[in-house]
Amino acid sequence: MPGWELFGAEERREVNEVLETGVLMRYGFDGQRRGRWKSRELEAELCRVLGARHAQLTSSGTAALTTALAALGVGSGDEVVMPTFTFVASFEAVLSVGATPVLADVDDTLTLSPAAVRAALTPRTRVVMPVHMCGAMADLEALGSICRERKLLLLEDACQAFGGTWRGRALGTVGDAGAYSFDFVKTITCGEGGAVVTNDEQVWRRCDGYSDHGHDHLGADRGADQHPFLGYNFRISELHAAVGLAQVRRLPDFLAIQRRNKQVLKESLSAVPGVTFRRLPDPQGDSATFLSFFLPDEGRARAAAQAMKASGLVAMYWYDNNWHYIRRWDHLRQGATLSGWPAALKEAVAARSGRSFGDSDAVMGRAISTPIALAWSEAEARERAAKLAAAVRAAL
Ligand SMILES: *Cc1c(COP(=O)(O)O)cnc(C)c1O
Repeated sequence: MPGWELFGAEERREVNEVLETGVLMRYGFDGQRRGRWKSRELEAELCRVLGARHAQLTSSGTAALTTALAALGVGSGDEVVMPTFTFVASFEAVLSVGATPVLADVDDTLTLSPAAVRAALTPRTRVVMPVHMCGAMADLEALGSICRERKLLLLEDACQAFGGTWRGRALGTVGDAGAYSFDFVKTITCGEGGAVVTNDEQVWRRCDGYSDHGHDHLGADRGADQHPFLGYNFRISELHAAVGLAQVRRLPDFLAIQRRNKQVLKESLSAVPGVTFRRLPDPQGDSATFLSFFLPDEGRARAAAQAMKASGLVAMYWYDNNWHYIRRWDHLRQGATLSGWPAALKEAVAARSGRSFGDSDAVMGRAISTPIALAWSEAEARERAAKLAAAVRAAL
């Protein structure tokens, strides 16, 4: 990852096909577009690759999460349980439909702890939103049974896990809906883009309308469409969809490269005493975008991250990260909005995210991830693997 590392002739060909007709919009202009419908084609391809009944493209992963929440009927007063370790987009989406993000601890899967989810439930909880961070899955067995037992919706933030699976099913297709991102740093990228998948036709119809100002898309004349509900413009463009189409067709190759390179790094690091690895509920389904591991304590994790950087390697020490971990989300806790919130929402957010998260700190303070590149040859991966093991060993 990310997919732009291997941009080539396929991406250019797909984009040129769009530019040849000049129709950059996904809807309408039927006469002019000479049968070229890249967004539709990509949606069909997503359904095929992921084994989902319906897919709706959007302008981003954030828009996909927002669209999915709206389509599931989640809104004001509803609580969405989500992890303390994710990208800020996860709670932005929840807030944008007026619902309350309720943060819960992560465990050594680097995703939602099922026990923490149970402890976070209230009569207002509507959704459990696991985030399949760094390419691999949350404990969908345990989280799925909580949802069934308590009649809650399961929405998978699979923005970082396109191509990952759980027991043979694509991450994102296990819950009531799933969201992907195709932004510039994701496995499959088209610059900016996202998708919602669901097996529920009504949820999909709502996604289809919501992401295009509420259009019902029933007639041939776009201007005469009805608007049964309010929506937004979260549309993808044909240029973006064209790049996405070329990229998705290359997914099997991307996964094979990532898995090979990750295996080389992991084997090398396994020989270093004191290092443990992220727990994967289904190791076979890892999309292998990152190698994530633990040091015995925070001090040694910091030292290892430093040593890695000094060797020219990339070390993500999430505990100090501004965008991915609760410790730096003061803007959320303080409700630092530009346009004001209802008082009840502000209070609820402060109460549900303002406490300390000791269990998460205990995990994240010891965790380091290093990204797995597509462009490395096996020899380059071996070279990096040796540097990685040496750097971490020196810090221990
Ligand atoms: C990237 C990402 C998103 C948002 O995707 P964008 O396409 O950048 O809006 C949401 N959640 C997670 C976990 C992400 O990594």
